[in-house]
Amino acid sequence: MEQQVFQNATVIKQTGSLYRLTFLPIWDPFTAVLSGKLRLKGDKLTNPVAVGDKVNGFRQTTDNSKENHAVITEILPRKNYLIRKSVNLSRQAHIIAANIDWAYILLSATEPETPFPFIDRFLVTCQAYRVPVTLIINKTDELQWATDYIARITHTRDIYQKAGYHVMEVSAKTGEGTAELAKQLKNKISLFSGISGVGKSSLANKLDPSLHLKTAQISRAHLTGKHTTTFYEMHPLQSGGYIVDSPGIRGFGLLEITKEELSHYFPEIFAVSSGCRFNGCLHAEEPDCAVREAVEKGLIPAERYESYLKMLEDPDGGKYRT
Ligand code: GDP
Ligand code: ZN
Repeated sequence: MEQQVFQNATVIKQTGSLYRLTFLPIWDPFTAVLSGKLRLKGDKLTNPVAVGDKVNGFRQTTDNSKENHAVITEILPRKNYLIRKSVNLSRQAHIIAANIDWAYILLSATEPETPFPFIDRFLVTCQAYRVPVTLIINKTDELQWATDYIARITHTRDIYQKAGYHVMEVSAKTGEGTAELAKQLKNKISLFSGISGVGKSSLANKLDPSLHLKTAQISRAHLTGKHTTTFYEMHPLQSGGYIVDSPGIRGFGLLEITKEELSHYFPEIFAVSSGCRFNGCLHAEEPDCAVREAVEKGLIPAERYESYLKMLEDPDGGKYRT
């Protein structure tokens, strides 16, 4: 039996206890398991190793078989990661992805409508973990006939642009706006997030038709079948870069963010908070709160302030059906 050490492989997928790895920028995935030592680390985490992680390990080749058996022994320090409360085991945390260069949250210009608290929990998480984030409004082609939706999506776009976020508009159907997006994705590992049905898979397929990701019509037919627990997966794009896609996000329980810190991750709330009378003002019931005044004057959108209050009261909440 031969043992061959490897270094700096990237995790591109996890299915149960099996991991797929490749040596970026080469796309030649192989399967690996975790060493016993790393499995123990999963005490507080449902997954000690996440998609995007850089890992070291070794591969074993037996003489009479070409079968490779690879073991991950070490996780390299993370540049960043996104984490949320585990859906099933509330005391555990789940790392969504590690070493993300850019995160995108997709919204639909029409249906389905993403609740503001979902958007805001994602933005806060990105902000808190120092992952740059951009909003993408998809299905803009439908606004031609679904004119009832124009006011709503314009309002949504305004809210986030005024808060300082970059908002892009695309149509996965017609390809409008996707060339600009492809440029931004180049040479980066990007995370695509958003509730089910907003068009994450369709957009990925439009960016790279060779991906053949399942879209709604197909995956709905699968719902009656057995569920595999594939969460996040990295895909290479022909135009350059990699996207990490997920089959559906249920929501984000905030972790490791204190009540005092929370407003720091709402740029437009934070901007006015220096005017509050009290230093540790949480902008809830306190007198002479500059944030509440700004909300009353319409300078801070009520939707954002409501999201903020919800998160303050219920950091674990925000679970949405996918
Ligand atoms: P996901 O759950 O976020 O991956 O969403 P899907 O990619 O499965 O898309 C959900 C549904 O929206 C499918 O029926 C798609 O055909 C449709 N869809 C996705 N993007 C667009 C778009 O840009 N325009 C239109 N008209 N439909 C779209
Ligand atoms: Zn205040």
